[in-house]
Amino acid sequence: MRLIWVVLALVWTGVAQAQDGFSEWLVEFEARAVEAGISAPVVSAALNGVTYDPEVIKRDRNQSEFTKTIWDYLGTAVSDARIANGRKALSREQAALDRIEAQYGVDKHIVTAIWGLESAYGTFRGSKDVIRSLATLAFDARRAAFFEGQLMDALRILDAGDVSARAMTGSWAGAMGHTQFMPGSYLSYAVDFDGDGKRSIWGDVAVDALASTANYLSEFGWVTGQPWGVEIKIPDGFDYRLADRDVLKSPADWAALGVLDVAGRVVPDHGMASILLPAGAQGAGFMIFDNFAVLERYNTADAYVIGVGHLADRLRGGGAFEGGWPLGDRALSFDERIELQERLTALGFDTQKIDAKIGPLTINAVRGFQASVGLVPDGYASPALLERLRDAN
Ligand code: CA
Repeated sequence: MRLIWVVLALVWTGVAQAQDGFSEWLVEFEARAVEAGISAPVVSAALNGVTYDPEVIKRDRNQSEFTKTIWDYLGTAVSDARIANGRKALSREQAALDRIEAQYGVDKHIVTAIWGLESAYGTFRGSKDVIRSLATLAFDARRAAFFEGQLMDALRILDAGDVSARAMTGSWAGAMGHTQFMPGSYLSYAVDFDGDGKRSIWGDVAVDALASTANYLSEFGWVTGQPWGVEIKIPDGFDYRLADRDVLKSPADWAALGVLDVAGRVVPDHGMASILLPAGAQGAGFMIFDNFAVLERYNTADAYVIGVGHLADRLRGGGAFEGGWPLGDRALSFDERIELQERLTALGFDTQKIDAKIGPLTINAVRGFQASVGLVPDGYASPALLERLRDAN
């Protein structure tokens, strides 16, 4: 047999086995859903004939915010086309966005930027069957408990009659509508802003989804009038250990350490702030405020939050970032990020989790290692740093 057929046969066997296990799991889940109080006819109508979707698992293993460099991500997220389309969307929905901003205290440019990143202003809301995607992810081991909860919530939405199963479409991960709400977020935070008695986030009309996003950010503590962050310049001789999410200072105190905006001015007093250097000492730097953490409630990737914040600033008329990026660096692969975390932990710089996500704990571990070998402790997990770790282990 030619190798290609052997490979295809193995892949097919894998999918067939997944489908067998999936069908058994689905029967058990159906019983749990009814036990949880969702009406039996709704549960069986929604789950009857649902099949495992291998494409969903493939997508789950390859999320773009975590496999691109931040500059590649921002190039797409805040492209000229997305800025131009955002200005059109802002003007098209201006009346609704102004009312939403007045009611929830969330900047309309931020709401519009989330809309722009989540669905290209409603253009790509996702056409996958949400029940099928969530059932596949709930059956898969990686985040089974989380997705089983979301699947339960999706059934609750159907049970409440807010939408039909057929119209309940979304992304591969079960995120729905203009601003990609997960079912759990929908139940807790979606609002009927246009007053027609339904919380409609799936259809062509965006207003309920936009208000739901503003309500979501407001409920998580959005501070009216506060920016997500401000681009800054790091002075010569800066102690890079201070560029840490846990080190909070007022803009005036940062200014006393030489940290100013890119025009050389003291950053206005928007509250306590930390310094974020997504690509270390070689890349652009930001002073970030509490609203940064509110945006992380949508997606915890720094690249995503900076993308939303910067797109909002550009929609408001602001300019491009002035700082550059280490364009010669590539992103670490999934396996390399695992290796990086394993090597750091083995050397006594505990990353707490080996999950391939470069979050604050991994950044602090990188920083600890850098300081121990006399490198600038900027926390940047670059290919060069991984090489250095390989030499050290
Ligand atoms: Ca409505």
